[in-house]
Amino acid sequence: MTTHHKHTSLKELHTFRLPYSAQALIELTCANDLAELNDDYYVLGEGSNTIFTEDFSYPVLRVAIEGYEQTSTEQGYELRVGAGENWHALVVRTLSAGMPGLENLALIPGSVGAAPVQNIGAYGVEVAEYVRSVEAWDRQARKFVVFTAEECQFAYRDSLFKKRPGRYVITYVNLLLPKQWQPRVSYGALAELGAEASASAIMEAVIRIRNSKLPNPKELPNAGSFFKNPIVSRGDLKRLLTTYPALPYFSVDAQHVKLAAGWMIDYLGLKGFSVGDAAVHDKQALVLVNKGSACGTELLSLAKAVQARVAKEFSVALEVEVRLLNDKELINV
Ligand SMILES: Cc1cc2nc3c(=O)[nH]c(=O)nc-3n(C[C@H](O)[C@H](O)[C@H](O)COP(=O)(O)OP(=O)(O)OC[C@H]3O[C@@H](n4cnc5c(N)ncnc54)[C@H](O)[C@@H]3O)c2cc1C
Repeated sequence: MTTHHKHTSLKELHTFRLPYSAQALIELTCANDLAELNDDYYVLGEGSNTIFTEDFSYPVLRVAIEGYEQTSTEQGYELRVGAGENWHALVVRTLSAGMPGLENLALIPGSVGAAPVQNIGAYGVEVAEYVRSVEAWDRQARKFVVFTAEECQFAYRDSLFKKRPGRYVITYVNLLLPKQWQPRVSYGALAELGAEASASAIMEAVIRIRNSKLPNPKELPNAGSFFKNPIVSRGDLKRLLTTYPALPYFSVDAQHVKLAAGWMIDYLGLKGFSVGDAAVHDKQALVLVNKGSACGTELLSLAKAVQARVAKEFSVALEVEVRLLNDKELINV
């Protein structure tokens, strides 16, 4: 049963924990109820990539559709998972059942339904590689639709769903975990596990590394990487490397590279820099945190100050990676 609550606090519903409320909260547990909803609403999963910077004047639709079905075919294990299931719980469940594949994506916060939206990725793997199709409610056409992986237009932290914010409500995600499995340990600190590593050893290492590097939102409210790693031309990279030879970068294609935004923020000595209770994390410069009673204005001023300092020093524009909302809609700062 889908339930409606009036004027609900959003503090517990997003991991940055700003003290705002929504005009209403709709808890969606049954996909078919979408056809009955006529209001405008913002679609929310577990709120680990969304920050409400003001009281929100529309209802928030929290997707809480449960469900897990599994079939074994010659190609692999096919899973149909409810959008409201927790992503990490799914990773643990599949590995415990002897179905490897998702181990590199362990401990990424959030729901299964949000995973295809920004094509979650970590340690050299993206969820796109395992998505067979995505089931969704098309709010414009008012009908249920199914997108093949190709139609989802997956790219680095991007997809059709991210390009069309608000148009689709993802209800179920269909995954394929191939039976032919190979460990993926080429990325960073996983390399020391060696090419014979088991999937559970990889998952444990990923959990250990993530716990040591990233603040746990339950202890220190945050929304993960606040800024995107900027993509610049190789010409710009050349210019930057003459002044900053230690600047880390990763190849994107023949013309472009991705720069480490955290390194640039750290270079400017901004770790720990704060505006009120909104701060740059003192160990991980790409993460902004709420030290307790931050408000939206403080967070936005902090974000703008960091962007301005990076732009002045490096002539590089930092874009926000999290979904920031004002009282009505997504905002780009
Ligand atoms: C400590 C920390 C570490 C993180 N590390 C990583 C990482 O390594 N890699 C990575 O990729 N991300 C990372 N993230 C970001 C976050 O985990 C992902 O973006 C995750 O997919 C968000 O899930 P959610 O359910 O919390 O999404 P929400 O914040 O609730 O929503 C995110 C976006 O998806 C939309 N959305 C949510 N559910 C649905 C649905 N059912 N249908 C349609 N649209 C929907 C929302 O409208 C919003 O635009 C991290 C976040 C934190 C806090």
